Amino acid sequence: MAEAPAVSQVNQWIDDAVQSTPIVDLHTHLYPPNFGPLMLWGIDELVTYHYLIAETLRIATIPYEQYWAMTQKQQAELIWKTLFVEHAPISEACRGVLTVLQRLGLDVASANLNQFRDFFHSQTSEQYLDKVMKLANVRTLVMTNDPFESVEREIWLNNPRVDPRFKAVLRIDPLLVGWPRVADVLTDHGYKVSTDLGANTMKEIRRFLSDWLDRMKGIYIACSLPPSWRYPDDSPATKVINEAILPIARERNLPFATMIGVNKLVNPSLRLAGDSVAKADARSFERLCAQNPKNKFLVTMLSRENQHELAVASRKFRNMLLFGCWWFMNNPILINEITRMRMELLGTSFVPQHSDARILDQIIYKWDHSRAIIAQVLKDKFQDIASAGWAITRQQVQTTVSDYFAGNFERFLQWTPN
Ligand SMILES: [Zn+2]
Repeated sequence: MAEAPAVSQVNQWIDDAVQSTPIVDLHTHLYPPNFGPLMLWGIDELVTYHYLIAETLRIATIPYEQYWAMTQKQQAELIWKTLFVEHAPISEACRGVLTVLQRLGLDVASANLNQFRDFFHSQTSEQYLDKVMKLANVRTLVMTNDPFESVEREIWLNNPRVDPRFKAVLRIDPLLVGWPRVADVLTDHGYKVSTDLGANTMKEIRRFLSDWLDRMKGIYIACSLPPSWRYPDDSPATKVINEAILPIARERNLPFATMIGVNKLVNPSLRLAGDSVAKADARSFERLCAQNPKNKFLVTMLSRENQHELAVASRKFRNMLLFGCWWFMNNPILINEITRMRMELLGTSFVPQHSDARILDQIIYKWDHSRAIIAQVLKDKFQDIASAGWAITRQQVQTTVSDYFAGNFERFLQWTPN
C-alpha cells in the first residue's frame, strides 16, 4: 500500500504546481504590439479601466460629461485621487492595480502616480509584453477579434503578423443581436445579405464567417448575449446560429463560445462602464447543447444566480466546457465559492478562470489573485480525499493543475464530438 504523504507535503506540491504551470488564458481583450492602438498597457490605462470609472463616479460627484471631456491623463488623476488617495483602495479592481505595481517592483507606498508613469515611459511595448507574460506565467493569450470594429478590421485586412503567443477568436455579436442594421454593414463589406434572412443571406453569412476565420486563424467563434436570450425561438439570433454559425463551426470543428448575462448600458452616461447583469436562461443554453450534439460550446455566465445550474448543465453535456469567473464574478468571494462548487460538481473537468483582461498589465493581478484562491480550494479538496485514505501523488496534483490551466481547453479544441 502506498504511504500517504503529509498534509504539508501535499500543500507544497499544490503551491508549486499552481505557481509554476503556465496558463492558457482563453478569453482576453488583449492584442500584440503590432496591433498599434488596440494594445492597451501602462498606468494610465490601468487606472482608467472601466471598473474604476464606475467606482470613481459614485464618489466624485462631477457631471458624467465633464469626466468624458477630460484627457485620459486627467481622468487617471481624478480616479487616483478619488479612489486611492482620498479613500482606501480596497475594492478588487483597486487592489488589482496595487498588485500590478508591486509585482513590477515599484514603490506602491509612495502612491506617486507620476513616479509610476516614469517607469512605464521607460518600457517598450515589446519588452513589456515579455515581462508581463513572464510575471503572470501566462503562455498563451486568446484574443477577442471583432471584424465589425473598424480599426481592428483595417489591421486584419493588411495581413498582420500575429505573435504566436496570441490566438485569435472571431467575435460576432452583431450577427446575432444587430439586425436589421448589421445587414447594411455586411453589404458594405461585400456580402449580399438582406433583412429577409433567406437562404442566400445565410449563405453569405457563412461566407463572411469562413473568410474571417481564415484571415484570423480563429480558434473559436464567440458572442456575448443578453439575459433575455432564448434558444430556440423565432428571432434572427436563432436562425443565424442554426443556419450559419453552427454549420461553419462543425465544418471546422471549432467551439462556439457564449458569454451570457450582460445587460448593456443600463446607465448610458457611464459608457463602457455602464453595463449591468441579470440572470440568464440556462435552459436555453442546455437546449443549444442538446439540439446540436455535433457542436462544441464554451460557456460562462455573468450572474451568480446562474452558476449552480450552469455547473449542473455541465455534468450533462460533454460538448460544453464551462469556463471562468467573468467580470462581476471575478471577485475573491465569488471565485472561491464558484470554484469550490465546480470542483465538487465537476471534479477536474472545467476551466476555473480566464482573465478577461483589457489592459495587458492586468493579467498579473487577475492571475495572481485567482491562483491564490484556486490553490487554497485545491488544498481543501485534496485534504478531504486524504482524510478518506487516498494516497495523493505529486503527479496527480500536477495533472489536475495542468488540466485546469491549459489542458482542458486545449483538448476541447482538438476533440471531435461523436
Ligand atoms: Zn470579455
